[in-house]
Amino acid sequence: MKVLVLNCGSSSIKYQFIDTESGVALAKGQVERIGMSSAVLTHKPLEKDKIKIVGEILDHTIAIEYVIAVLLSPNHGVIKDKSEIDAVGHRVVHGGEDFSGSVLVTDQVMRVLRENIELAPLHNPPNIKGIQAAKAHLPETPMCGIFDTSFHANMPDYAYLYGLPYELYKRYKIRRYGFHGTSHRFVSKRAAELLGKPYEELKIITCHLGNGASIAAIDKGKSIDTSMGFTPLEGLLMGTRCGDLDPALVTYIMGKEGLSLFEMNTLLNKHSGMVGLSGISSDMREIEESYQEGNARAVTALKAYNYRIKKYVGAYIATLGGLDALVFTGGIGENSVITRKDVCENMEYLGIDLDEELNQNATGEAIITKDSSRAKVLRIPTNEELVIALDTEQIVKEQMVLS
Ligand code: ADP
Repeated sequence: MKVLVLNCGSSSIKYQFIDTESGVALAKGQVERIGMSSAVLTHKPLEKDKIKIVGEILDHTIAIEYVIAVLLSPNHGVIKDKSEIDAVGHRVVHGGEDFSGSVLVTDQVMRVLRENIELAPLHNPPNIKGIQAAKAHLPETPMCGIFDTSFHANMPDYAYLYGLPYELYKRYKIRRYGFHGTSHRFVSKRAAELLGKPYEELKIITCHLGNGASIAAIDKGKSIDTSMGFTPLEGLLMGTRCGDLDPALVTYIMGKEGLSLFEMNTLLNKHSGMVGLSGISSDMREIEESYQEGNARAVTALKAYNYRIKKYVGAYIATLGGLDALVFTGGIGENSVITRKDVCENMEYLGIDLDEELNQNATGEAIITKDSSRAKVLRIPTNEELVIALDTEQIVKEQMVLS
């Protein structure tokens, strides 16, 4: 099956056209600066050169028209007719409490997505726009929604409830939801496959470390806890987000600095985390460079980043009651030798014994612990688009059987 995977943001759309049989993306690209006169479409067909088109793209409907047009283009395209797009898989950030798995998009699903806008006011509206736009151009093509939250939807209540009045949970659905679910699910399953053990028997901790970062505790194939919460602000230190902090600081800082709600929100989401602590950058490569040069702020920021991950790993080993595999993924998880080394340092007593050379030289999918290490540490590149395509294929095939 050939699935168009769409990830729609407020001013951008990322896409991949995936052949689910081979798992290969036949073409991938993105439209940026939607709504502006100088929008840019970058398109890369498999084994051909990348092309760039600049023009006016006023909204998501026009953006998707361009994406379909470039997929059909005689020179740069990969299909001859729209009907070769068998299905569309949409990444949707927030499924709230309503979706514990991926779904076929129906009118009822669209209604629930709209109801969940309050939970993800920045992310769900463009996701909804993307679905509507794709439907406008491909009215006969099945559309599926794959949620960042659904892998975590069955966490136990004692893990997802905050220490707040219970009525707030009932009234406003305030609870931990967790994000990056497709990535945590993909890399934990791959870890089981690479270890040659049944997924349903393993205790796995997955660290998704990109610009946003989260960590999940997965027991027998189910997420039982994760570091992001009601929003993606909680948990680990991130490029620009603060992660965990004392909630009293919010009103304290607002008072001291005379900040509005909006300004405080911006401070926590855009000016904190690694950029705030280091004063250098939100980009880990730049921070690592300054760290190597001995820049004191970079050293402290990187240590704080790794320390926070280590604390969570310890906590999750306790909640899981042991550990079989610790997985690193995302731009930092896959590439930062220092982060993996720091997190795993002095953890032999917990069964983690990193092999420094394997860690240093790891590429692709790799086990980087010594043979004698009771728990294995793995580097596994994530592939959220493939998960979306495969889920979409499965749902569409199930529908075919039903109808
Ligand atoms: P996103 O969350 O936007 O998908 P990525 O998963 O691509 O982001 O991760 C981006 C982060 O990965 C950036 O902080 C970047 O600096 C970091 N990164 C990429 N390559 C390396 C590297 N070789 N060493 C350290 N960090 C890296």
